[in-house]
Amino acid sequence: MIDITGLYIHVPFCKRKCPYCDFYSAEPENDRVFDAYVQRLLEEAGGYKDSAVEVDSVYFGGGTPSLFSKRHIDKLICGFKSCFYINDNAEVTVEVNPSSADFNKLVGYRQAGINRISFGIQSSSDSELKVLGRLHNFYEAKNAVRDAAKAGFDNISADIMIALPGQTRDSVKKSVYDIVSLGVNHISCYILKVEENTPYANMDLSLPDDDEAADLYLYMCEILKGCGFVHYEISNFAMPGYESRHNLKYWRAEEYIGLGVSAHSYFKGVRYYNKRNLSDYLKGEDIRVIEDTKIDKAEEYLLLSLRLNEGISVNRYLSLGGKEDILKKADQIGKRYLKIKRDNISLTEEGFLVSNEIISGLL
Ligand code: SF4
Repeated sequence: MIDITGLYIHVPFCKRKCPYCDFYSAEPENDRVFDAYVQRLLEEAGGYKDSAVEVDSVYFGGGTPSLFSKRHIDKLICGFKSCFYINDNAEVTVEVNPSSADFNKLVGYRQAGINRISFGIQSSSDSELKVLGRLHNFYEAKNAVRDAAKAGFDNISADIMIALPGQTRDSVKKSVYDIVSLGVNHISCYILKVEENTPYANMDLSLPDDDEAADLYLYMCEILKGCGFVHYEISNFAMPGYESRHNLKYWRAEEYIGLGVSAHSYFKGVRYYNKRNLSDYLKGEDIRVIEDTKIDKAEEYLLLSLRLNEGISVNRYLSLGGKEDILKKADQIGKRYLKIKRDNISLTEEGFLVSNEIISGLL
């Protein structure tokens, strides 16, 4: 039987590390390391050659995948085609940092088979971008999105960050409208969280408190809804038909194969990941770690699918061995956080904000 999966490729390089970021990425000494890394990715992909895998979404994430040239992306996509059956309608996304994209590179990506771009814009305020340590300003971001449209991309996503130091309702409103007006059809929105072991953790930042952050989030949801976006997952909004196929796989507990350092996989019912160790990966050492396979399917379904606006089917939850009193618990939590319609339970927008607490209340 042919398995249909998503393919995720982690590109662990950034020109300069942003002070809030805890993703695995390093500043490359020179571009030669990209060739070596591409070679290792193809070797890792080769390990799946005999598994008869059909791929319907490919996602280059990072780090900064747009540090890769058209030649690197071409080589990878051609190589993957000899290891997987890549569906003709596959969604093929690359995350692009506005500071590392120019028109020619974007044209090259389109020719290589990329059909979706996700831009890390974050804000339209140059002072906020500066505090975030980003390498681009909004003028460059605007040009990058326009270049992508000129290069033939009609499926474009942008990231927005909220709860930034000193951010107000007005600056959130301005960023959202400025970014929406670029013509993007998908928006991922992240609430800034100060992670341990990042420079932000040791800085004296004037951050909004939890209530202020919640207010900014709900305000942003309201603006995006008014612009026609559907809030389909806690952090994701899309024009109808532009939901990210790749993201949906995670939340629907569908399978995906991750390649590269720190990439996670869920394949043939097993979850595993590669350690965060670039030098061992480049040396060809085995850095794969198998995760605990004793997964409670009902709990996993609840944890993942409640993140989506479509929510969970109570019957499916029960058929996976879930607890019988789920509807009673949902009633106790109440309508402020949960929508309960016959067989379906889903989170309200306020529920999205405190999803972890609600999910533990249901378990
Ligand atoms: S560009 Fe993105 S991945 Fe790289 S350091 Fe900044 S936030 Fe992290």
